Amino acid sequence: MRTGSNYLAALRDGRQVYLGSKLVSNVTTDPAFSNTAKSFARVYDLKGSADHIDDMSFSEDGQRYSAWFLMPKSKEDLFKRAHAHQSVAQWTHGLMGRSPDHVASYLVGMCMQPELFEGKNGVWLSHLKNYLDYIKKRDLFVCYLVLSPHSSRPPARPEKEYPSLRVVAEDSEGITVHGVKTLGTAAVFSDEALVGCMMPLGAGQENEAVTFAVPIATAGIKVFVRKSYEAQAQNKVDSYFSSQFDESDAVMTFDHVRIPWERVFTYKNLEVTRDMYYKTPAHIMGNHQANWRFLTKFKLINGIAYESAKLGGLLSLPPIQQTLGTLAAAEAAIEGLISSQIHNFETLPSGYVHINRRYMYATLSWCANNYYQIAEDVRTLLGSGPFLLPADASILNDGETGSMFDLCWDSPGADARLRYKFVRLAWDFLGSEFASRQTQYERFYGGPPHVMSLYNFLQCPWQEREASINTILESMESVESTEKEEMHHE
Ligand SMILES: Cc1cc2nc3c(=O)[nH]c(=O)nc-3n(C[C@H](O)[C@H](O)[C@H](O)COP(=O)(O)OP(=O)(O)OC[C@H]3O[C@@H](n4cnc5c(N)ncnc54)[C@H](O)[C@@H]3O)c2cc1C
Repeated sequence: MRTGSNYLAALRDGRQVYLGSKLVSNVTTDPAFSNTAKSFARVYDLKGSADHIDDMSFSEDGQRYSAWFLMPKSKEDLFKRAHAHQSVAQWTHGLMGRSPDHVASYLVGMCMQPELFEGKNGVWLSHLKNYLDYIKKRDLFVCYLVLSPHSSRPPARPEKEYPSLRVVAEDSEGITVHGVKTLGTAAVFSDEALVGCMMPLGAGQENEAVTFAVPIATAGIKVFVRKSYEAQAQNKVDSYFSSQFDESDAVMTFDHVRIPWERVFTYKNLEVTRDMYYKTPAHIMGNHQANWRFLTKFKLINGIAYESAKLGGLLSLPPIQQTLGTLAAAEAAIEGLISSQIHNFETLPSGYVHINRRYMYATLSWCANNYYQIAEDVRTLLGSGPFLLPADASILNDGETGSMFDLCWDSPGADARLRYKFVRLAWDFLGSEFASRQTQYERFYGGPPHVMSLYNFLQCPWQEREASINTILESMESVESTEKEEMHHE
């Protein structure tokens, strides 16, 4: 299986990553990305280590593959996959939304429902299956960009030089794509990108209805990343998380990029280009990973809540216990809901099984709608703590200021240095600009709030709900007879 150093070596491939106007020549050494690249490399090392390899991989044809490539045929397979998602999340503190197990789970889900593709024009299931096999054998890390840029919104501007990505030419060997796609979280750290359309397209947009996979280091592709929080981080004490778990987000531009046919999965089929996410188990298998990751993050935040109360000497206060109890109840409820997605698995005609669709969407919605409040509640517990600390950890290493700090910043619950490390860690997770991006991520990664509600609306068996009301209505006296009875009484 792939090691961390194999992974890092693959990132040194001449990819065109832009940090502002600067072209980053090597993401594995650049101060904006190198620590986070190492965090992903560590995932590869840990999962292949003697302690984890059995749980983190499965055997097929005498080879071992990462568990997230397992096509599940039983509840046990689903639990194996879940264990792998949880381990990756723990090794990255739930901060890497698009870790290598995320898009891989989408691709597995797409291949679980072949009947969606059969007999349809402009879709190539064999290409998709071969691609999954290709990344499985090489243990590749794939990100995805499945949205059009805001610049492509109406009114249409046909003269735009860089429109929403579309096919501009095709021949016997493949297609040529040109334009812009958003938003590639972890694109900088990925080997490849899956490019597609998760939002519906209308008639006339057939050239945009394309799904393909491409190496990030392909000629003509540029990766424009947002501000790097890793680059801003002071050191691993003052910025423990942002200095090494900043997965990055990027817009990718394609300048007449050639894609061979074997890497094209859909083209000109408006329906399947979107349905391949929602009508197969792709969306739910990918977001099941996201649910486990969220839980890991939630547990860490609850750890911060408890520690904050303890170090502040507030743990015995009933209102503080009430806050912690409410957080604990939510954490347990979400863990139960995620586990129940597996216990209530569903079986497909192909024989594959997937997690419970309805329970997954309920979890996804809950997580998106509640993260902000959870983070806010725990920030509230921190009080003025983050602003009582000196500017940075250099004070600790200086003889004179270090002793002053030890004397003046201690508390009955903890010595000053422990308290310093804890409060910095808590603020990096919940209050910094990096934390703010986390809040936005949790709100939007699964789609905007109104779409999240729509998923849940569509999953509910409304007819059953309606039937139970109708049964009561039918059992009631008719309005006329009630009126007569009332008149009689009068
Ligand atoms: C940090 C982060 C990482 C992401 N990573 C990825 C990724 O890896 N891959 C990827 O493809 N995408 C990614 N996304 C994109 C994500 O899927 C979108 O943010 C999401 O679909 C919302 O689209 P938008 O950002 O364009 O918001 P907009 O569509 O511009 O919406 C802006 C606001 O208006 C509201 N709104 C818009 N239309 C309506 C409506 N009809 N009714 C009611 N309210 C409406 C939205 O809810 C939102 O609050 C990421 C987003 C974020 C924030």
